[in-house]
Amino acid sequence: MAQGDAREIAAAPTASTLAALIDAAKVDKCTHCGFCLPTCPTYDQLGLEMDSPRGRLYLMKAVLEGRSQPDDRFRTHMYRCLECRACETACPSGVPFGVVMEQARAVYERTGDRSPWQRWLMRLAFDGLLPRPGRLRAMFRLLWIYQRLRIDVALRATRLDKLLGRMGAMATLLPRIPDPKLQDELLEVTPAVGERRYRVGFVAGCVMKPMFADVNLATVRVLAENGCEVVTPAAQTCCGALHLHSGVRDTAEGLASKNIDVFLGEELDAIVINSAGCGAALKEYGELFPDDPHQRERAEEFGGKMRDITEWLAAIGVTPPTHAIDRRVTYDDPCHLLHGQGVGAQPRELLKAIPGISFVEMPEADWCCGSAGIYNVVQPELSAAILDRKMPHVAATEAEIVATANPGCLLQLRAGVRDAGLPMRVMHVVELLDWAYTGVEPYSLRADV
Ligand code: SF4
Ligand code: SF4
Repeated sequence: MAQGDAREIAAAPTASTLAALIDAAKVDKCTHCGFCLPTCPTYDQLGLEMDSPRGRLYLMKAVLEGRSQPDDRFRTHMYRCLECRACETACPSGVPFGVVMEQARAVYERTGDRSPWQRWLMRLAFDGLLPRPGRLRAMFRLLWIYQRLRIDVALRATRLDKLLGRMGAMATLLPRIPDPKLQDELLEVTPAVGERRYRVGFVAGCVMKPMFADVNLATVRVLAENGCEVVTPAAQTCCGALHLHSGVRDTAEGLASKNIDVFLGEELDAIVINSAGCGAALKEYGELFPDDPHQRERAEEFGGKMRDITEWLAAIGVTPPTHAIDRRVTYDDPCHLLHGQGVGAQPRELLKAIPGISFVEMPEADWCCGSAGIYNVVQPELSAAILDRKMPHVAATEAEIVATANPGCLLQLRAGVRDAGLPMRVMHVVELLDWAYTGVEPYSLRADV
């Protein structure tokens, strides 16, 4: 679609013009075989065809053909999807479900029938907060103070969090926010330990930076330990993954362009990230520029360099860690790593390479935990029901540590472990590797998280 067309659509949205935003060829790949249905967590919970991948594709096709409008019913079924992409793994016809779901949501967001209050909230979150590091930093500083005063503990103890609905859910999902000063320790250039083998970029993440500053520092230490000089450009911005998942496509395109300029301006062997949800979006930046060959080529060059941290470390071969971690450890696959990027063996290989670890597989490790970006905030009941299916499997492993590789999954599983009263800790794979290299227990073990 040409730029002018896009402006026209934004100015005068109708069902027929909006349908142009969905790639019909991708939707038409569906042969209605139904192989994806048993893998879909929302179909499993609700038992409704329209809450299955096949049903959602049917709704998209109906809009494409003008038989239906992108109305409230459309929104309900599109936004109940977790975008876990388990259906993509199962699909023998190669339907790129994640991409078409993002397009379908963009269609809905262009129709303009959200309430002014909802639009204001979305603008605040997606334009006023996520791409603005100064504001995010200030907000997380306030949250850090809130936790230091133990208001969150009081809310949980008095069960007031349950009365506060979504706000209460958000308040209790929050991990222990690290000291805000910690994020200043992330340098723009971190030298390799010993001989430099690679020069890699590091995507620090808009929310990862203040919320998981400790995981970011662990990531950079592990990269440096493995001969990587790590470049973390200060000019990078939010990756736009949450925007894309919410149909806020225009802003996502602007953020993508900025990141492409910043990282392609450096000589890098790879661009590494420790957040699976963001990584999947960054690898697919090319999908954002279907009608701009020059920018699409640059976006594909950028995406071709993107690696999840576990994928990159497994590919270059890690220096054997020396400190033993005598713990029973299991692993839960982040959907955007396993289904979105096809990375499942590498995190397990890395965990098994750590001396002392007794690794145990979790049943249904490939089933979504219900986190899915902001899903646990916007769809709290469904998210909780999906987590309820996961937790008995987590408990059955009798692991002391549950490892995963995505911030949303860390938050969701920590909440699940805490609510189930399980004697387990949840941490990122790189925290365990860092522990095995340095011998220093991770922050998340030392802090009350
Ligand atoms: S992405 Fe996940 S929730 Fe959405 S339709 Fe596919 S399997 Fe179901
Ligand atoms: S598995 Fe693929 S082709 Fe079959 S119904 Fe699901 S999306 Fe359609």
